[in-house]
Amino acid sequence: MKVFKESKTIKLYLQKLKFSQKSSNFTVGFVPTMGALHAGHISLIEASVKNCSITVCSIFVNPEQFNNKKDFELYPIDIANDLEILEKAGCDVVFVPNYEEIYGRNYLSKDYDIDGLDLILEGANRPGHFQGVCAVVHRLLEIVNPNDLFLGQKDFQQTVVLQRLVDKLNLGVKLTIMPIIREKNGLAMSSRNVRLSEYARENASFIYNSLLNVKHSIGNTNLQDVLKNEIEKINNIPNVEVEYLTVVDGNFLQSINNWDESERKVALIVVKYEGVRLLDNVLLD
Ligand code: AMP
Repeated sequence: MKVFKESKTIKLYLQKLKFSQKSSNFTVGFVPTMGALHAGHISLIEASVKNCSITVCSIFVNPEQFNNKKDFELYPIDIANDLEILEKAGCDVVFVPNYEEIYGRNYLSKDYDIDGLDLILEGANRPGHFQGVCAVVHRLLEIVNPNDLFLGQKDFQQTVVLQRLVDKLNLGVKLTIMPIIREKNGLAMSSRNVRLSEYARENASFIYNSLLNVKHSIGNTNLQDVLKNEIEKINNIPNVEVEYLTVVDGNFLQSINNWDESERKVALIVVKYEGVRLLDNVLLD
């Protein structure tokens, strides 16, 4: 496994590698991450290893997508352990840049027009977050120039935003969205889970369960009543607060009021548990 820190060097390495391939079937798969890798990340690496000729993974905790300085400072980092995990998973190339390698010395943020998808849901709760995501992914795609980009359904809105970015800027990369990997109790794996107390981590199954309750109510019970009921139940749990629980159309991310308003429904939830923001979602169709 090769590890690069400089944009120029990895770009040149990948260009040469592509050029030296005789086969037109040679494909580069890319998995962007912020490190602190867990089984969710590894499922993306494995999908890339299975489907592409070589797999590139980036580890970069992108300050531009953190609207909360404390959240950025608390983000767990363990590069040595990540590299070990990636090697075992069959990753071929790892990119571990610093800020300057991504943004240069005098970064002026761009304004990506993604039709307002960046302003709702997570975007409304975390102003500037998706602009930062677009900036880093755009730059990483420029450097790695992959054929396939592997993303997790865990960050559902991110997948919709990035598909729109790729379409609008004609970036010519194919997105593959992989299912959410969960702990045994249903808690969606996340690098932020380490910030929960042991008790909370073991008892966080109510998040996924509430999404399943929504799913099982399709067609039977009024959608608004189901959501209200689930929110009330969760808010009664100590140290827990629902930021939002909603059902949206999976293409446009607009909340729907009735079950029959969309044929690609997704239930999205964010709760704060012991002050840690936890995201989850379930596809309903
Ligand atoms: P992150 O390191 O949090 O930026 O995540 C990097 C990629 O891993 C993103 O595409 C995430 O959606 C994906 N990911 C994170 N957690 C999971 C999970 N539990 N299951 C599947 N994919 C995940």
